[in-house]
Amino acid sequence: MNKEIQSIRGMHDYFSQELQIWNYLEIIFKEVLTSYCYLEIRLPLIEKTEIFKRAIGNITDVVEKEMYSFKDKKGNSLTLRPEGTVGCVRALIQNNLLNTKNHKFWYLGPMFRYERPQKGRYRQFHQLGVEVFGLDKEDIDLEMILLTNRLWKRIGIDSYLTLEINSIGSRIDRIKYKKELVLFLEKYRYLLDEDCKRRLYTNPLRILDTKNIEIQKILNQAPLLEEYVNISAYNHFKNLCKMISSYGIKYQHNKKLVRGLDYYNNTVFEWKSNKIGTQNAICAGGRYDYLVEEMGGQKTPAIGFAIGIERLVLLMQELNIFSEKVENIHIYIIFIGEHNKFYAVNLSEEIRDLYPKLKIFINFFNQNLKKKIRHAINSSSEIIILIGDKEIKNGFFLIKDIKKKEEYFLLKNELLSKIKNYFKHIN
Ligand code: ATP
Ligand code: MG
Repeated sequence: MNKEIQSIRGMHDYFSQELQIWNYLEIIFKEVLTSYCYLEIRLPLIEKTEIFKRAIGNITDVVEKEMYSFKDKKGNSLTLRPEGTVGCVRALIQNNLLNTKNHKFWYLGPMFRYERPQKGRYRQFHQLGVEVFGLDKEDIDLEMILLTNRLWKRIGIDSYLTLEINSIGSRIDRIKYKKELVLFLEKYRYLLDEDCKRRLYTNPLRILDTKNIEIQKILNQAPLLEEYVNISAYNHFKNLCKMISSYGIKYQHNKKLVRGLDYYNNTVFEWKSNKIGTQNAICAGGRYDYLVEEMGGQKTPAIGFAIGIERLVLLMQELNIFSEKVENIHIYIIFIGEHNKFYAVNLSEEIRDLYPKLKIFINFFNQNLKKKIRHAINSSSEIIILIGDKEIKNGFFLIKDIKKKEEYFLLKNELLSKIKNYFKHIN
């Protein structure tokens, strides 16, 4: 195949069968989010590069290696959004929306990161992002956990996901901790892989969530972030854990859980599944109490999470959860002879006017009758209407009821009222 007409590596086309799951998920997302009073927002796919650098942090993987940045015709540096929080905060500050009574938002759309494509990791992927502003107590952290838990239950995957939570304290706590961690890791420098060596002086916390088993063993002896977390963050976390348990939600306190973006503080959490391979985090989030201020807004605590839709769909496919078959064609119209084509079109338009929910297919292909009928049967049509010279001359149509294996003639009026009864359950 000609390489020039292939999609970009890590960017995929999505076809009808998979999109049925996506549409089904979107309905559940909207229902559940609305029941918690979240409002939808739609944001640009491109922002100024500078705001990502400032908010996400210059030495994070996302900014260092993963951003799709380019110059526009005026030489401004722009970036395809690698995540949604930054654009959301920018939009709320710019539109002066942080002070209004609406403070809970969601969005769904594509994100772009230049990563090594593999199962569950793509260069264009989709996230459902959820953000809440203005609340600093653990009640809202709890609500996010309850909300995500409810989503999993509605989808039917709750027993295949585990919740991991941690507190990463404040930025100052982490500066102190980082020093100790680096001192510890320097002793094992010769055992670190290339990725970890690179992160040792740039982003050492990220080493904590390495997938390398040998390095994980070394980390078992490492100082714990927990011991550097300030007392107020500690209490916030303790209360949150208690409340989560009181709702019967199981969690693991993963003391090595950190986030890849700089703006997080205190609570961080991930929902993981062991059924989709190594890229196992389906949902990740946490607090970002300082981001709004850092981006030029007034001090506003915040918390959010994002669900990776492709990974969620992978899990659903793995578990065979969504088994809705491709929907049938209700009425399949076959005309015999080109000169009868518009008679078929007119009839189909008339049926659509009367019964807008029916799926009506006209076969426009230049095929013989036998082939057209075979196609109608193979595409699970319910009834076929045949229109030839004889039918038009006599003013009736030949109907083939495929389900009931019957065949009969009907006048147009009879046909229209027959359709009404036949597809009562649809209209
Ligand atoms: P990871 O550690 O897997 O790279 P992350 O910490 O970079 O994840 P976030 O930025 O928190 O991820 O994004 C939230 C969710 O979005 C992830 O848990 C995952 O489900 C999904 N996600 C992130 N990056 C990708 C990607 N490149 N392809 C597909 N899904 C992704
Ligand atoms: Mg990542």
